[in-house]
Amino acid sequence: MALVAVDALAQKPFSDEILELIQRDELESWSAQKILTWAVGKFHPRLTLSSSFGAPEGMVLIDMLHAIDPATRIFVLDTGRLHAATYDLIDRVRDRYEKPIEVVFPDAGEVQAMVRAKGVNAFYESVENRKQCCQIRKVLPMRRYLADFDAYITGLRRDQNLNRAQTRKLAIDPGMGGIVKLAPLADWTHERVLDYVGEHKVPVNRLHREGYPSVGCEPCTRAIGPGDDPRAGRWWWESDAMKECGIHVQAEADGSGI
Ligand code: SF4
Repeated sequence: MALVAVDALAQKPFSDEILELIQRDELESWSAQKILTWAVGKFHPRLTLSSSFGAPEGMVLIDMLHAIDPATRIFVLDTGRLHAATYDLIDRVRDRYEKPIEVVFPDAGEVQAMVRAKGVNAFYESVENRKQCCQIRKVLPMRRYLADFDAYITGLRRDQNLNRAQTRKLAIDPGMGGIVKLAPLADWTHERVLDYVGEHKVPVNRLHREGYPSVGCEPCTRAIGPGDDPRAGRWWWESDAMKECGIHVQAEADGSGI
């Protein structure tokens, strides 16, 4: 059964139906397509899909959603430090699915103040600096953007890493204003994602072919070797910090089950 923090539920009014579905863990037995179809019917137009354009899971969801309702909105956080390959993919997706991708930027004043105070690449110097950079370039812009929505969809999977092992397909996200968070691929394996990509000829980030299982910001991601943990290429200079940018941490930490 999914656990939902009481203070999280206080942030947004939810229908009894949503709360009941969470408490019964109902969506755990639903397919990804069934969840997306239900979400479109329930939340559109206050529904959006979060994709980093740096992982195949987000691309699978874009492809599925396009078949269900091409009008569903898609956004990407442009931290200002993404790989050129990621920008290329954003435009390829825009062309293939003939729809705008909502590119969300950090607050220029916040970035400017941080860079002036600490330098351009201060994230290498301490975990605190790295988390501040992720907060300013990712977490806060996403929180501001999601203030206009009731629900968002992510490509999180439980076997991506230990931090994501408790991910539920339907949950409340207290870190994003208490809106609904959907993870339709939570029970998918990496192989199943790749099979879908191959079968449906889904465009993916070209850096996957060069040893990047997932592609984050350019200075904070590198290729990994055979047998390495898939997250080993992220913030590789950190050994003991929880390797998340902060977007997916809060709900997991308090047990609300994203
Ligand atoms: S991944 Fe690196 S560059 Fe990107 S926001 Fe986080 S610390 Fe900053």
